[in-house]
Amino acid sequence: MSELEGKRVFITGSGAGIGKAIATLFTQRGARVVISDIDADAAKKAADEIGAAGVANCDVTDEGQVQAAVKQTVDLLGGLDVLVNNAGIEVSSPLLQQSTESFDKIYAVNVRGPFVAMKAAIGHLIESKGNVVNIASIAGIGGSPLLGSYCATKAALIQMTRVAAVEMRPAGVRVNAVCPGFADTAMVERLVPDFEAATQVPFGDLVAMKQGRLGTPEDIAEVAAFLASDRASWVTGSHYVLDGGLTAS
Ligand code: NAD
Repeated sequence: MSELEGKRVFITGSGAGIGKAIATLFTQRGARVVISDIDADAAKKAADEIGAAGVANCDVTDEGQVQAAVKQTVDLLGGLDVLVNNAGIEVSSPLLQQSTESFDKIYAVNVRGPFVAMKAAIGHLIESKGNVVNIASIAGIGGSPLLGSYCATKAALIQMTRVAAVEMRPAGVRVNAVCPGFADTAMVERLVPDFEAATQVPFGDLVAMKQGRLGTPEDIAEVAAFLASDRASWVTGSHYVLDGGLTAS
């Protein structure tokens, strides 16, 4: 039997990048995945390509939309076993030069988004003894110039993961996070010019020096699949680092 056979899964921000790779691998491993994104065209395209079970779009900053998308998913799949909080945005700015509006925005997506999604999903996850996989970042562990508010949001997500895991353990719901280093997605492409300008080092050299190679969205999907599966039945409250050794050095 495939690792995720029959698991009913909702993934935010899964029209592209890491979320799409997670949706692809989960589907290949037998899960029934509902794609969700703020970008409806990307979501439809990804769902068609992957052969996903359906699409239930939401902007994770809008609690009503998130609740409706979770309900749509549960109506379609007959329940929910796994919530993947993947939607996230980056801001590249020296921390104290960032506008307060932009600071509020990144919190709304990266912290409040997973919070409202977990609240919307928890009743269903208690019913199925399911689990949550939060896509955090090594930026939630170590500080990085230009990524101040992003680092703060990912640290907050790791802490929410821990607390939710402990609080939900008696109900049989696991909550974990993954913390990738730099992976090959549009998000990193957007960051490259600012990083190169700040360090005067070609980004490829920086990556080679710090983490060997760029991660792939598939690297991250593999760990998410393990955490979502019953093989990880004793894993909760954890944050899994996958960064080619960057944070180890
Ligand atoms: P990406 O920008 O390539 O894709 C993000 C997806 O989320 C897009 O499809 C986008 O439309 C969607 N999205 C954005 N705002 C949204 C919102 N408000 N509501 C719903 N969907 C929204 O990014 P990615 O690199 O695939 O990143 C995915 C997750 O992985 C993010 O949480 C990111 O912080 C995290 N992460 C990425 C890296 C990396 O190196 N790429 C490293 C560590 C962590």
